[in-house]
Amino acid sequence: MDLRRHIPPIHRLLDAPAIGRLTALYGREPVGIQVRAEVERLRHLAAGELRAALGVAEPDAGAGDAPATAEPPAESAWIAAVARGAGERLAHHLGAPLRRVINATGILIHTNLGRAPLPPVVAAGLPRLLDAYCDVELDLAAGRRGDRNHRADRLLQALTGAEMGLVVNNNAAALVLALAVLTRGERRQVVVSRGELVEIGGSFRIPDVLAQAGAELVEVGTTNRTRLADYAAALGPATAALLKVHPSNYRIHGFTADVGAVPLADLGRRHGVPVLVDEGAGLLRPAAEPRRPQLAGHESLAELVAAGVDLACGSGDKLLCGPQAGLLVGRREWVERCRRHPLYRALRPNRATLAALDAVLRIHLAGGPLPLDRLWPDPGEHRQRLERAAARLPGARIEAADAFVGGGAAAERPIPGEALTLRGGDALLERLRRGDPPVVAYLRDGRLVLDLRSVDPEDDEPLLAALRAARDEDTLDA
Ligand SMILES: *Cc1c(COP(=O)(O)O)cnc(C)c1O
Repeated sequence: MDLRRHIPPIHRLLDAPAIGRLTALYGREPVGIQVRAEVERLRHLAAGELRAALGVAEPDAGAGDAPATAEPPAESAWIAAVARGAGERLAHHLGAPLRRVINATGILIHTNLGRAPLPPVVAAGLPRLLDAYCDVELDLAAGRRGDRNHRADRLLQALTGAEMGLVVNNNAAALVLALAVLTRGERRQVVVSRGELVEIGGSFRIPDVLAQAGAELVEVGTTNRTRLADYAAALGPATAALLKVHPSNYRIHGFTADVGAVPLADLGRRHGVPVLVDEGAGLLRPAAEPRRPQLAGHESLAELVAAGVDLACGSGDKLLCGPQAGLLVGRREWVERCRRHPLYRALRPNRATLAALDAVLRIHLAGGPLPLDRLWPDPGEHRQRLERAAARLPGARIEAADAFVGGGAAAERPIPGEALTLRGGDALLERLRRGDPPVVAYLRDGRLVLDLRSVDPEDDEPLLAALRAARDEDTLDA
């Protein structure tokens, strides 16, 4: 049987549903080019390679010529092979489209996976605001132009006690904007503890940010100890601000000291120097519940405002569980200057961000629930969830495992609990990542760990189906 005799004409390939799915994603012309290229590639393969690519069995040695009835399966084999090859080339050249991923790592705020998930009810409400129009900048009652920051301002006031709130695209932008506003004229010096000159990740280094904002860095104290007197000694006519940065993913242990927001705000007030705190995680209100000790020691924006700092900023997509955004809160005088600064126009968020943030802030106001809560499930209920899943996965065990908040928050404070484990190695891990839906898990002591605390319970079924499919592909089953 010469398989090449069964190459379907290009128009038949382009009309096939499997290729139509590619056309919907990448467009007719790029798909046409890659389909032709893939046919050419397959046409020039050696017979054995071509059979493997088409998934066609070796001809039976004793059976003589293959029967002519092999024709229809040969065409569908061609279509499948061309769709697979063209799909891979298109993904390579144009980038594969974003996919919904099941995060079974137990790290809730996962930077590589888009940080925090939005609350499902917020995500569900977004399409109706985005596939039409919304009153993002129109005062419907008055029929006048509105202010796109108005809603977030009111909600941030209510949630943190600040005189005003402002939203920009991310926390880095909030910090840059605040520094641009605080450093003006002769006053360019920003005083920072040497213990807080950190890199947050993704080349976000505090000294570089200050330089970009046109500020002159004045380092005080040492890496492990900085006292209030160190800040006080650095004050002078050129001091623009005192900056305090939450070191996020970095801790110093042992002989350490730093200055809290209250004494720092007090020092600033006595000398007429504004105090800016980069809180980082977007924690709005104190989270020091006894059940969540991992969040104790992280100061919320509300606490920073109460401490008297002039400006504080945090991220929308870390502990807040909102969209990527930067939240700025503080004294009206300073926040209003940020809003009027020319940079704000370049840093202000789009309506998708504002719509998601508005809904998420309202959930915070109502007291939850938020995806973050999944990290501290009711132990009995969580056990039942794991047992239900384990009962359907031969060889699965329920074992102790640590979850993490992630995103640089409480980096060293594991959240003890339980997870599913299965026998498996790198190959299974990779098949899960390449599956549908893709699943991200991790390996520990030769077993695959699936921590459901970072999984929306709605995704349990698709997760189990993806696991079964990945294990069926070989015989790794325990
Ligand atoms: C995360 C973080 C940032 C950066 O926030 P983005 O929203 O990613 O721009 C800045 N400072 C601190 C302390 C952080 O934790």
